[in-house]
Amino acid sequence: MSENNHTPKRYTITAALPYTNGPIHIGHLAGVYVPADIYARYLRLTGKEVAFVCGSDEHGVAISMKAKKEGVTPKEVIDMYHAIIKKSFQDFGITFDNYSRTSADIHHETASEFFKKLYEQGDFIEETTAQLYDEEAKQFLADRFVIGTCPKCGHEEAYGDQCENCGSSLNATDLINPKSTITGSTPTTKETKHWFLPLDRYEGFLREWILEGHKNDWKPNVYGQCKSWIDGGLEPRAVTRDLDWGIPVPAEGGEGKVLYVWFDAPIGYISSTKEWAKREGKDWEPYWKDKDTKLVHFIGKDNIVFHCIIFPAILKSHGGYILPENVPANEFLNLEGNKLSTSKNWAVWLHEYLEEFPDMQDVLRYTLTANAPETKDNDFTWKDFQARNNNELVAILGNFINRVVVLTNKYYEGVVPAPSNFTEVDQETLDALKKYPEIISSSLERYRFREAAQEFMNLARLGNKYLADEEPWKVIKQDEERVKTIMYVALQIATALAVLSEPFLPFTSSKLKSILAASNELGWNDVLEKETLLAADHKINQSQLLFRKIEDSEIQKKLDKLEATKKANENEKKAVTPQKETITFDDFTKLDMRVGTILEAEKMPKTKKLLVLKVDTGIDTRTIVSGISESFKPEDIIGKKVTVLVNLAPRPLRGVESQGMILMTESKEGKLVFVNPDEEGVGNGEGIS
Ligand SMILES: [Zn+2]
Repeated sequence: MSENNHTPKRYTITAALPYTNGPIHIGHLAGVYVPADIYARYLRLTGKEVAFVCGSDEHGVAISMKAKKEGVTPKEVIDMYHAIIKKSFQDFGITFDNYSRTSADIHHETASEFFKKLYEQGDFIEETTAQLYDEEAKQFLADRFVIGTCPKCGHEEAYGDQCENCGSSLNATDLINPKSTITGSTPTTKETKHWFLPLDRYEGFLREWILEGHKNDWKPNVYGQCKSWIDGGLEPRAVTRDLDWGIPVPAEGGEGKVLYVWFDAPIGYISSTKEWAKREGKDWEPYWKDKDTKLVHFIGKDNIVFHCIIFPAILKSHGGYILPENVPANEFLNLEGNKLSTSKNWAVWLHEYLEEFPDMQDVLRYTLTANAPETKDNDFTWKDFQARNNNELVAILGNFINRVVVLTNKYYEGVVPAPSNFTEVDQETLDALKKYPEIISSSLERYRFREAAQEFMNLARLGNKYLADEEPWKVIKQDEERVKTIMYVALQIATALAVLSEPFLPFTSSKLKSILAASNELGWNDVLEKETLLAADHKINQSQLLFRKIEDSEIQKKLDKLEATKKANENEKKAVTPQKETITFDDFTKLDMRVGTILEAEKMPKTKKLLVLKVDTGIDTRTIVSGISESFKPEDIIGKKVTVLVNLAPRPLRGVESQGMILMTESKEGKLVFVNPDEEGVGNGEGIS
């Protein structure tokens, strides 16, 4: 069924459940949460009934592993990130009606019920396979809990599901010399039973529903990915796994197993809706079961298969549920030309952004929308961020509002003047204004959020141009009556901006409404239908700053920080020598290291590398031959404090006996560096321990 065929009675809007193993960054916001929030806010402003739900995705092997690695419980991991993520959403004005978590009881019940229903209907296939088992930990080893040698390329640290060296997908049982990452022991193999969703059985349904039914209304990137999955042949997919963290499998033989996270997570949308309905005294069922409900999933492109193929197959199998009418998945956002990466810290973290740009949520929301990765991967750059702010938000929107409010206060003590005769330009401007709700709606209804944000800015441009052309500040000297009409028209535009900005710039919208003392009741369609948005005699308030200019120095600081991150990552990439064999404390105390000072230095004749040094060790003055001639000129190191290993057995080097060793390190660029005690007041001969 195509979207345009009926008017929905209500909307269920979901946003991808963030995985609670880290905080969220601008990529998440741009790809999923800002567009979903714009859409939800817009629908509410048009008077639609909306359930906008989300929650933390708290199961899965990554969380289990992180907990084991850090020596905490999975619950500690999820509690921490759930709180951080939830706060970021609140800070950026994401108006979920409910933000739940998949560890909640209501979700465990809902997901179990789904599994049971499908199980009882015979919709799963059962299969017993041999899996790796850790006898010491007494548990099966999920993919990431095993490392071993890749059978394809010989890389020694391949994971049970993938080799990161050659990129091959693997089965844990294929690894050569597998080791458990929990205990380090060699796993045995043991038979285990699992349940699979036979996706191949849904091919006919998926072809008809997506490939025929949504050819024209789904985004080409989404449709294309679905087509390639379906054409490539769908295969049964395991819905359970051997793990101790997740929702227990409610079936005979399910002990010690949990539902696979991809099975339980999307059901989280339903659980979240139930939680919301219960709290608000509503019925959740129409939101998921009434065919007059429009269900829309907002996700990133990495989630397309789960929301378009697998979850619909589960819903279809269960029966009684509606299917999504659209899944407007976005592509990825990059940062300054590179992929966003949590592990490389190549990201703008939301909590960090707010520390550096307090109260400037709308600037980020606007930039991410104006530059959203809707049809292809897109790049976030700090220069673009600055330009969007300075050239659009400050110069167009902020400037227009400020002029209108300042002049109204200056000429009329803040009271909206009554207009007299509208000129042709006035009338054209008011007519143009009334078209904007429909223009912006049309973009939003087609999930074109970039276009919608630009159309919104065009309305501010209309206001700016009107004032610039009519020049009330000049006309006031000759024709005071005329200025009343000009200001009245400008105030109508300002009020329309206050209303229509809400989905995009919610913080600015509420500031603007308070400056104009405009009614919070004004909705999207009032801009279209009402003769007057701000009546004559209405009193407005004083102006306040909506946006501030962002200076070059602030942007340079951000770029410097990224440059430093890049350097740190490059250095890390250079191989670090593996740790040597463990030594005892006694081994260590055998080394006698002292602070010394270089007294003399000269090149050893006929060698490239060697310097002959006289060093005051506090014990004595001795000769040490050191291979540092390529990095230092003799005259530059005289007087230098150094660390000397004094009890190294003397050895002859080119006929000179070297009586000790000076400790050096090598920088990433290959330059030798003294390991030197740089603290004042440390004397020669003092021991290092
Ligand atoms: Zn490999």
